[in-house]
Amino acid sequence: MMPNYDVVIIGSGSVGSPTAFFLAREKIKVLVIDSRPSPGQGQNKTAIGGVRATHSDPAKIQTCQLSLEVFGTWQDLYGDDIHFKRGGYCFPVYEEGHGKDLKDLLVIQKAHGLDIDWVDQAGIRKLLPGINPEGLLGGTFSPGDGNLSPILAARAFFRRACEFGAEFKFGETVTGLETVGGSEIKVRTDRGVYSAGKVLNAAGARAPEIGRMMGVELPIEPDSHEGGVTEPVRPFFEPLVVDIREFPGSKNVYFYQEKLGHLIFCLTPEPIIPGTNRESTSTFLPLVARRMINLFPRLRNLRVRRTWRGLYPMTPDGVPIVDRVRGRDDLLVAVGFCGQGLMLGPGIALNLVNLITKGQPLLPEEIFSSYSLYRDFSRASETLK
Ligand SMILES: Cc1cc2nc3c(=O)[nH]c(=O)nc-3n(C[C@H](O)[C@H](O)[C@H](O)COP(=O)(O)OP(=O)(O)OC[C@H]3O[C@@H](n4cnc5c(N)ncnc54)[C@H](O)[C@@H]3O)c2cc1C
Repeated sequence: MMPNYDVVIIGSGSVGSPTAFFLAREKIKVLVIDSRPSPGQGQNKTAIGGVRATHSDPAKIQTCQLSLEVFGTWQDLYGDDIHFKRGGYCFPVYEEGHGKDLKDLLVIQKAHGLDIDWVDQAGIRKLLPGINPEGLLGGTFSPGDGNLSPILAARAFFRRACEFGAEFKFGETVTGLETVGGSEIKVRTDRGVYSAGKVLNAAGARAPEIGRMMGVELPIEPDSHEGGVTEPVRPFFEPLVVDIREFPGSKNVYFYQEKLGHLIFCLTPEPIIPGTNRESTSTFLPLVARRMINLFPRLRNLRVRRTWRGLYPMTPDGVPIVDRVRGRDDLLVAVGFCGQGLMLGPGIALNLVNLITKGQPLLPEEIFSSYSLYRDFSRASETLK
């Protein structure tokens, strides 16, 4: 018997939703199952919304270039305002060592054709009016990077995927997978059974559970990060700012002013907080507020509306896993997106469509192999958003 769906995607998050859209656009019969009540309600909605191609890993660079193209043209092509703003990323530098590291990185980034450069102190002060000038050495700026609303993006992918014929089942949890006769997989949920030709595991922080149903161990261990949003104020800076200095209790701090004027921010705790607890802490806001006011004294009277806590589905090397299960072309995984699933999502989705329809990714195999499930996971990690 022919399966009812060509592809069943488990998870309607930062990765599953765009993948459903691009598959449906290729007339692939796709069903997405998610235990949450609507699209993007897992870790997707905890992302602050940063999207950059300026990484050091070629696979991430090329994947995020695809994503930026998708996000940047979305409104023109499909009409939905996902609050995309090409405001760039700016890393202000206060320590000589950081300046050297970022300048070394520029060489690699420029070799990949990325639009990023060193900007002197005066240039950074112009980009970030009101930034603390004391000890400011300059910084990097990449004008092609940007930001957007993760929840509006997930909603847009969902709506347009439905228009192309994709189906979604919300409030339904996948509990088992069973292969029947070599060409059909039965996907069991707490509500029913669906028949699929291929199954994609895009289950975010819960991907290892689905991995075990697929017969593979996925080396993903979530840790938690908090974010927050302020009241809106008149726009006064464009880039997403990354302060890479380390202070007691925290590593990097990230923030930007989104389209409506709210500042959205988050921080990398030090040490990391492993586990899946998503209760807001009492330590995050004092820590992040002190750092942001130190960097940008004019923020001192800004009121915070709310904070939240979400998960990074971490791999040991900070690089996602996007692959087919060995010997099983019908089982795919797109998991372990760490702190970068939003920005990688559409680029990964385009590669998955190629993998499913043409048997190979869109990126050159030697670059895409960075995402292999069967790689050596002991490389150094890259976790900046
Ligand atoms: C504070 C914070 C800030 C961040 N900022 C950024 C940022 O600026 N830029 C960026 O790129 N990334 C950012 N991230 C990271 C980003 O949120 C994640 O990398 C990304 O959302 C992971 O996408 P995903 O599709 O793998 O998982 P998710 O979006 O979590 O989607 C997985 C889905 O699978 C569903 N699911 C799981 N198991 C089952 C099951 N058995 N049955 C049915 N459904 C199931 C879940 O309900 C969920 O909806 C941030 C994260 C945090 C916490």
